[in-house]
Amino acid sequence: MNRVYNFNPGPAALPLEVLQEVQAEFLDFQNTGMSVVEISHRSPEYEELNQTAQDDMKELMGLGDDYKVLFMQGGASMQFSLVPMNLPKSGVADYVVAGEFGQRAFKQAKEIVEAHAAADMASGGFKRVPGVNELHCSKNQSYLHITTNNTIYGTAWREYPDFGDVTLVADMSSDFLSRPFAADKFSLIYAGAQKNLGPSGAAVVVVKKSLLQKCADDIPEFFSYKIHAKNNSLYNTPPVFTVYVISKVLKWLKAKGGLVAIGKQNLLKSGFIYDVIDRYPDFYLGHAEKGSRSIMNITFRMPSEELETEFVRSAAQKGLVNIKGHRSVGGMRISVYNYMPVEGCEKMAAFMEDFRKSNS
Ligand code: PMP
Repeated sequence: MNRVYNFNPGPAALPLEVLQEVQAEFLDFQNTGMSVVEISHRSPEYEELNQTAQDDMKELMGLGDDYKVLFMQGGASMQFSLVPMNLPKSGVADYVVAGEFGQRAFKQAKEIVEAHAAADMASGGFKRVPGVNELHCSKNQSYLHITTNNTIYGTAWREYPDFGDVTLVADMSSDFLSRPFAADKFSLIYAGAQKNLGPSGAAVVVVKKSLLQKCADDIPEFFSYKIHAKNNSLYNTPPVFTVYVISKVLKWLKAKGGLVAIGKQNLLKSGFIYDVIDRYPDFYLGHAEKGSRSIMNITFRMPSEELETEFVRSAAQKGLVNIKGHRSVGGMRISVYNYMPVEGCEKMAAFMEDFRKSNS
């Protein structure tokens, strides 16, 4: 076995212990004599797993019984449409557009409801997230949608500002459960699973029950939060394998000290790499402004495209893979989600030091 350090922006690295556990019990899940991918989603084993995963997620987020966790298919992209379809259409939906996925969410919302960009950071090249004082919110706002971490540009809110008394909706796909945060300030959070939760195939939706009660009844059942909540995420055949792995990842997170511990580790990990960028700002040209730096996706350019190509090639030889930036930014994107080990980031930082030395 030759495992590499996988810095892919998603699907992303998972804890090795979890993968090993999955492997060990793959042929016989909990003495059923069946694989987890063969069991019924109506079996007591799956029902327990489904419930435990929801409970563990709420526990990690410090949320109580006033929130409901849903596992849904269709990825985070489907939520771009489901949010405006489901949430009360009582006014204008305000969107903070600070990256490509925020743009996509806004575009989908405009198809469904009256939506307005409370801020659009495109003209600045998406180098930072806006301050709360820069937001132009609607008077009759129905909700405010933010993307907490901009995966492609490597920007994020380091601390959430006080958005005030709003119905706050967040796409947390690329930094969900990466550090402690006041989850109860959010009315609805959604995230694709394939970065900090597990394999692709599901999106998690964490919704305040008081908001859920006000959600639409007049939409097709499969798209309805209410229907999925009523059926405890068992309206139809759920992505059993994905939820199963998520349940293991959540247990792993709890055992490692929850969001406080993982938050410290993520800061340390990203710090190794940002330190090198700051030491050689003419060689590693960071994309994000310092105050908006993501601790999940680290983006930078280099003095020439030839150097960038050589950087990717040379890193891969050392087992540091999947670091090429998104085509809209170019350069590098080093994604260091929750389950990238600390030593992977130390190795990447040491490689960056060496590469600069031999190429400048
Ligand atoms: N939002 C964000 C912030 C993302 O990073 C991504 C995927 N990279 C998406 C939404 C889309 O997720 P999915 O592929 O699950 O639809």
